[in-house]
Amino acid sequence: MTAVEQGARVAFLGLGHMGLPMARNLKSAGYDVVGFDVSQTAMQAANEAGVETASSGPDAAATARVVITMFQTGAQVLAAYSGRDGVDGLVDVAKPGTLFIDCSTISVDEAREAHTLAEVAGHRALDAPVSGGVVGAENATLAFMVGGGDEDFEAARPLLEAMGRRVVHCGGDGLGQAAKVCNNMILAVSQIAVAEAFVLGERLGLTHQALFDVASNASGKCWALTTNCPVPGPVPTSPANRDYQPGFAGSLMAKDLGLAERAIESTGVDAKLGLMAREIYKEFAEGQGANQDFSGIINTVRAASGDRL
Ligand code: NAD
Repeated sequence: MTAVEQGARVAFLGLGHMGLPMARNLKSAGYDVVGFDVSQTAMQAANEAGVETASSGPDAAATARVVITMFQTGAQVLAAYSGRDGVDGLVDVAKPGTLFIDCSTISVDEAREAHTLAEVAGHRALDAPVSGGVVGAENATLAFMVGGGDEDFEAARPLLEAMGRRVVHCGGDGLGQAAKVCNNMILAVSQIAVAEAFVLGERLGLTHQALFDVASNASGKCWALTTNCPVPGPVPTSPANRDYQPGFAGSLMAKDLGLAERAIESTGVDAKLGLMAREIYKEFAEGQGANQDFSGIINTVRAASGDRL
């Protein structure tokens, strides 16, 4: 398959927080984008942003060389690919050899199922979840983690580079999602560890700045400390300085850790900390943390530590 160059017809399905700015960037880069979303509000926003829309997902897919999906869940992706409730499946209506790229964050197993659905119907498929959030989607600075064949990856590269800054081929089917889930498990565990260390430091009489100055230049250094510092002050741009407005919301971290849990269970890995992080963020997201940045977990640690000096 040759590279998907400017001018190619791209169906972009799922025009939500991430999808709409990504579709807009593709259009600005010269692709012939046609979008669709089941939400009327999202469709209106797309029209206002100048993105052409179709009357259904299958209508958009039928004319495209590439079909990108950016939904919330794996169940939505699989339902759209295979069709249901009288709606045609995307893989049934697309032209043979269409390249399907799913950018949603879903489980590795669901991603592999999506690959199979597309490939059995005579198409090509990649899983390409992203990191970088809405800001990354708007500024075309997303990182793409891609799973699928070499040739399909190379074909998709120019298209993905129009929406992102880093595009990494992680291996075969589902391995983009595998990379995403592993990375986010590291992030969750390290954010909790940094939060616990600051609360412990407070109880021992250490200032936040002193702990930061030491740990950020020592072996405790990590993104959760140096970029997403959970206390106000040492890193002025971290969410702690704006009352934990996200950033990366607790609900999204809880969702991603749910996918990690599924992967841990299906592989039998003894990931004690990953599973504990899953429990901690599930509780956080069910309470006040749903709409807070996930670094707000420090307040949970403080509250659970009582008021002993
Ligand atoms: P969102 O809910 O804003 O957007 C998803 C959109 O998909 C919705 O507008 C929904 O109506 C639409 N949709 C669902 N089924 C559809 C169908 N069959 N056809 C057409 N449209 C359909 O979600 P989001 O924040 O844009 O996130 C999308 C994905 O990206 C999620 O999997 C999320 O985990 C992942 N992600 C999000 C962020 C973030 O910061 N928001 C960061 C990285 C990854």
